[in-house]
Amino acid sequence: MSKSKNKEIKNISVITLGCSKNLVDSERFSGLLNANGFKFTDANNADAMIINTCGFIKSAKEENIQLILEAAEQRRKGKLKKLIVAGCLSQRYGNELSEQIPNVDHFLGTNSDLKILKILAGENKHSLIGERMLFTPKHYAYLKISEGCNQKCSFCAIPMIRGKYESTSEDKLFNEASSLAENGTKELILIAQDSTYYNKDKSNKREIANLLKRLAAIEKLEWIRMMYAYPRQFPIEILDVISENTKLCNYIDIPLQHSSDKVLRSMKRGISLRKIEELLDTIRKKIPNVTLRSTFIVGYPNETEKDFQHLLNFIKKQQLDRVGVFTYSQEEGTSAYPLGDPIPEEVKNQRREEIMLIQQKISLEKNRKKVGDTLKVVVDGIERKTYFGRTEQDAPDVDNLVHFNSNENLKPGDFVNVNITKAEEYDLYGTHI
Ligand code: SF4
Repeated sequence: MSKSKNKEIKNISVITLGCSKNLVDSERFSGLLNANGFKFTDANNADAMIINTCGFIKSAKEENIQLILEAAEQRRKGKLKKLIVAGCLSQRYGNELSEQIPNVDHFLGTNSDLKILKILAGENKHSLIGERMLFTPKHYAYLKISEGCNQKCSFCAIPMIRGKYESTSEDKLFNEASSLAENGTKELILIAQDSTYYNKDKSNKREIANLLKRLAAIEKLEWIRMMYAYPRQFPIEILDVISENTKLCNYIDIPLQHSSDKVLRSMKRGISLRKIEELLDTIRKKIPNVTLRSTFIVGYPNETEKDFQHLLNFIKKQQLDRVGVFTYSQEEGTSAYPLGDPIPEEVKNQRREEIMLIQQKISLEKNRKKVGDTLKVVVDGIERKTYFGRTEQDAPDVDNLVHFNSNENLKPGDFVNVNITKAEEYDLYGTHI
């Protein structure tokens, strides 16, 4: 225990907003604090609070600022002895925030582990770097394989916030994944802003296939899932690696954002509709039972009703398994910013609704075909005597669930076979066999 530690502060509350990458950042600095003897608690019982913010789009910014204001009020009243705001919003607007919001002790940016540790007067024991305190249930964990992004999507503020693409070395990732597996992680979820760019910044080659192969050798891991693939220059070789290795989930998360060539060009996605469709065909040929997840943006400044209809038809034609839709958020500093934000929010929301209604039908039809099947399910928990879990087709937090009964006393992280008896739009129901 370090001499200079602030004796008043023992209990810390960490609030993480935004994406899974931010969650890993919180897990990393919390691992350091934990090793320095700090305890973790909820906001009501904390001496110090660390808010790890998201600053990606308008709605997230508003939610984050509201939360910071509430915490600052607790700080003003002396309920909190220290209030630290870190992460993307603070990285992007730290100066403005510190001028406008009093009673926050520190506005730090992203990757502020050591600064946070120093502020709370813990010593920096280097051997601790990499020790994470998991905020996910123990049986699954995210593995953040890089920081930043080198893509130039016109609507996106992330490269401004997180900087250039920086791959973490394969050895370091292998060690981190091995330590997670030793501590009970069964499902490893690879995340980045752009997973398919892995190591291109270091070796000028996309080496995600090698990384997947290496991680698949970790015995105690049952499932390895990759999120956030980028369609342009997609490294086709990973498809063979995935189809040849049962540990690698037949699951491709590939944000496509739009289908109209005019909109894709303005978004600077660097890929055409023809190339996107060729890629999806190739993925389906190489991994026949692949689960395809994608996300789209509606209401982008130059999206006409005709472009939107084009996207609707694309969704109907492609029959993707999992779909998310965002409404366009005009972000200062992005190359799309000068295009303004001409499409009214209600029209954006209507377009989002329309796509989700079509996707609901597609999802229901696909789910109905699974009735009678027996699926491998990882147990995530139990609610009102009914277990819930996910199949290989479902990532945590964003995809579907399987609800099922069992006569056995199951625990999170168990893998079981469930016979599917009922299907709804998204979730499945069944019995453990
Ligand atoms: S790939 Fe595009 S949308 Fe994703 S983080 Fe990079 S710039 Fe943003």
